[in-house]
Amino acid sequence: MLNDLLPGRKILDVWSSYGGVIHRGKNHIKNKKYFSQFRKKVVGEKIESVNRRGKNVLIHLNKNKTILVHMKMTGHLLFGKYQKAGAETKKPEGWEKEPWFPIKNKALQDPFNRFIRLVFTLSNGKHLVLSDVRKFAKVCLIEKGEKTDLDDLGPEPLDKNFNFEIFKTIILHRPNSPIKSVLMDQGLIAGIGNIYSDEILWLSGIHPESRVSKAPEEKLKLIFKNIKLLLAKGIKFKGDSTSDYRNPDGIRGAFQYHHKVYQRKGEKCLKKGCGGKISRIVVGGRSAHFCDRHQKKY
Ligand SMILES: [Zn+2]
Repeated sequence: MLNDLLPGRKILDVWSSYGGVIHRGKNHIKNKKYFSQFRKKVVGEKIESVNRRGKNVLIHLNKNKTILVHMKMTGHLLFGKYQKAGAETKKPEGWEKEPWFPIKNKALQDPFNRFIRLVFTLSNGKHLVLSDVRKFAKVCLIEKGEKTDLDDLGPEPLDKNFNFEIFKTIILHRPNSPIKSVLMDQGLIAGIGNIYSDEILWLSGIHPESRVSKAPEEKLKLIFKNIKLLLAKGIKFKGDSTSDYRNPDGIRGAFQYHHKVYQRKGEKCLKKGCGGKISRIVVGGRSAHFCDRHQKKY
């Protein structure tokens, strides 16, 4: 979506309220010194393209400069027309204390979207802003092919080149680990989180604690197929807003209305004719929801 909105626009200015002494010396914009350098380097640049890597957004300015936005828990990027508040400005309801506010857009004006910590003023009068209630997001500039922690991410499951053989080789790096932890290991495969891993395993009929090396080949094939299916479905429904996620237009995704197992503890299994019940356990420090009847443990 951002790739339809941003390319071709020029960055005219950058504003941020991130900061604080604990960030001194850090390589991201919460360090005030870093931010002032960041601002000098990106103002005047044109956005060439945008892509996603795992849960992060990469805004490419030219081949030597890329803005990296780590959304973390609560960050979400929004796009629209914003105004900087002055003393005399009339602000939308719920935005009285905010330094920036969106103009004439009900979805963006949802007070949920009001925690604006970073604003890019773009050509054509639009703004790209980062709303981040808990201030966990991280933004930095990658220059001249510098290495980043994104280089350690596994392949994107929706990539055409990501086939079953690659998937199998990758997950067998952790043969004795529970399948749920392996699917969520971002260094093996990028972008499968807690919700998607529960849904993938429910649909594939395999228990989250199953050991990778013990699972039969046909089950692994099913998991592989369902990873692609459910991630594509997530995109079709514009993401999952169980937690804080919003689309750049400020609107919630709808994948949460299609959960079959996630956060349904104690309810009846939705698989036709199953008759099982949804349980919740902890696997690798994360909650796992599964059907006690049709999800087999290997
Ligand atoms: Zn079931």
